[in-house]
Amino acid sequence: MGEVNKYGLSRYIPAGVASQVRRECGFGCVVCGKSVVDYEHIDPEFADAHSHEPGRIALLCGGCHDNVTRRIWSKEKIRQARANPFCKKKGFSWGGLDTGLDVPGISFGNNFATNIGPIFQIDDTVLFGTLPPEEPGAPFRLTARFFDEESRPTMQIVDNEWKLNVGATWDFKHVGPRIKIHGANSKDRLELLIAGQGHIVIERMNFTFNGVTLMADRENFLFRSDTLGMRVFTDCSFHHHPFVLHTT
Ligand SMILES: [Zn+2]
Repeated sequence: MGEVNKYGLSRYIPAGVASQVRRECGFGCVVCGKSVVDYEHIDPEFADAHSHEPGRIALLCGGCHDNVTRRIWSKEKIRQARANPFCKKKGFSWGGLDTGLDVPGISFGNNFATNIGPIFQIDDTVLFGTLPPEEPGAPFRLTARFFDEESRPTMQIVDNEWKLNVGATWDFKHVGPRIKIHGANSKDRLELLIAGQGHIVIERMNFTFNGVTLMADRENFLFRSDTLGMRVFTDCSFHHHPFVLHTT
């Protein structure tokens, strides 16, 4: 940061421009959809750019950017991908979790839950859970499903890989180990810390499933519904048995 090109243009891309680029690219690499990205000036390159024009900037992951830098891929390929981005075509962007050989777990605020099998379930639907390794020595597999206030799926984690539902997302940022999703409603926020080794921390969550609202911040986790009332959890640990809610 602070670096400027020969026209005095700073490398820093203004927040409004960056937000427009994210939305136009579908929150992932325009070629492969991976959610860990950089902003790349494609036409012209940053060295020759007079301004940060959103339409001339693409999201590219490190691997795809490397292919451009090494001239394995043409600029035309990136231009075409920017015009018809992977995430807009497929409806999702994606990324992988670093999972160790231990059983993964999820923190809801400062509550920690782990189990082999379902961790948190509403009626017959497992919202958070794990699966055993597919073969000895392979990692455990974390699964999770997230929704917004209107019960639309926003993101899911399947076998340690997350997929963001581009259609239900107004903005998405992957900053360091944190994933931040905003819905159109300012209350629709999901913030995850990827703590490594199959551990994710839900730092903020507000979603509804089967009439049950689940909310979390960095300290508390609560659920509430008309039939179940409200329960708040702080500093709780749930191990070795699933937490199941029945709404009927
Ligand atoms: Zn890529």
